Amino acid sequence: MTDWNTRTKLVHGGTRRSQYGEVSEAIFLTQGFVYDTAEQAEARFQQLGDDEFIYARYGNPTVRMFEERIAMLEGAEDAFATASGMAAVSGALTSMLKAGDHVVSARALFGSCLYILEEVLSRFGVEVTFVDGTDLEAWRAAVRPDTRAVFLETMSNPTLEVVDLKSVAEIAHAAGALVVADNVFATPIYSNAIALGADVVIYSATKHIDGQGRCLGGVILGSREFIRKTAEPYLKHTGAAMSPFNAWVLLKGLETLDLRVRAQAEGAQKLAEALHGDARLARVIYPGLPDHPQHALTQAQTGSGGTVLSIDLAGGQEAAFRFLNALTICVISNNLGDAKSIATHPATTTHQRLPADQKTTLGITPGLVRISVGIEDTADLIADFRNALSAV
Ligand SMILES: *Cc1c(COP(=O)(O)O)cnc(C)c1O
Repeated sequence: MTDWNTRTKLVHGGTRRSQYGEVSEAIFLTQGFVYDTAEQAEARFQQLGDDEFIYARYGNPTVRMFEERIAMLEGAEDAFATASGMAAVSGALTSMLKAGDHVVSARALFGSCLYILEEVLSRFGVEVTFVDGTDLEAWRAAVRPDTRAVFLETMSNPTLEVVDLKSVAEIAHAAGALVVADNVFATPIYSNAIALGADVVIYSATKHIDGQGRCLGGVILGSREFIRKTAEPYLKHTGAAMSPFNAWVLLKGLETLDLRVRAQAEGAQKLAEALHGDARLARVIYPGLPDHPQHALTQAQTGSGGTVLSIDLAGGQEAAFRFLNALTICVISNNLGDAKSIATHPATTTHQRLPADQKTTLGITPGLVRISVGIEDTADLIADFRNALSAV
């Protein structure tokens, strides 16, 4: 099964059929499991076999199918599914860190990731140094002998900075630190973070993996040792378990992930090219455009600019709002990776909490609009965006 190519893994990986031989994966919507005898219950609590379950907070057959399918896709030894992407980020970090540890993190992060690293970890005595993720010298200077982990988003939200994961991993590993990569924007289709050197990879399954706006989910991938000895004990006792129903929805999402993500990335490339150079835009930020600062790295590391682009309206917030309000196909929302195209104004929504100077440092300008490209017809999308720009 490990010889299977991506689309085969995504359709068949991890399948466990019940005695009824169902085609579509079964939803085991159960909290608990019954035992034939008291002795069997005792034995399971002593030592849980790979295909045995005792309580859904610890594991569930539908959730296990999801974990095995995504682990197979990512080439990871194991995975633990969580209730949301943030449960995965916070669970991975808090399960491995203790007071006195040092962490180096890229500065350009999703708002909630920044909250965990900036506000939560420091309360428990973990010191975090923030660096410009694209500056390898800054990573080198920040890593210390007591650095336990480095954290980064391989492609950052919303300004789409691309981190040279292979080089950062070399720097981190030389210091004995683990590399924790949030790979949501790069997607598991285009970026094999483990092959590039990440020790722990995190996805918000809410994004491309569901991809149809239905449910929250997250997953932590890594070595069997890390997942079973570090992440699982923490997660099963703190309770951020994925619901079996959500695991089933996400299994269905995985089946079409490759088809959707490739269609979305092709659409994003075409849309970025169509909008590039428009006089009403100060910038079109897309790693697949030759003028992106990490374009060459992107070509080598992922081979695609991904499914998201950001545009910066020269007329600032007023122009951005007029543009957003004139869109007819693309919806205004704050999710991404969906089959529906979604536009977001980060400065007033996802990154509203940040003080003005931090927004400036991160490039979150008043005119910035983040666009997650869906699977609609690209010509229709380009027409929608051109029309909205003429309303500016
Ligand atoms: C959305 C997102 C998360 C959080 O995922 P949830 O499922 O919303 O909890 C984490 N990291 C990145 C980069 C994201 O885009």
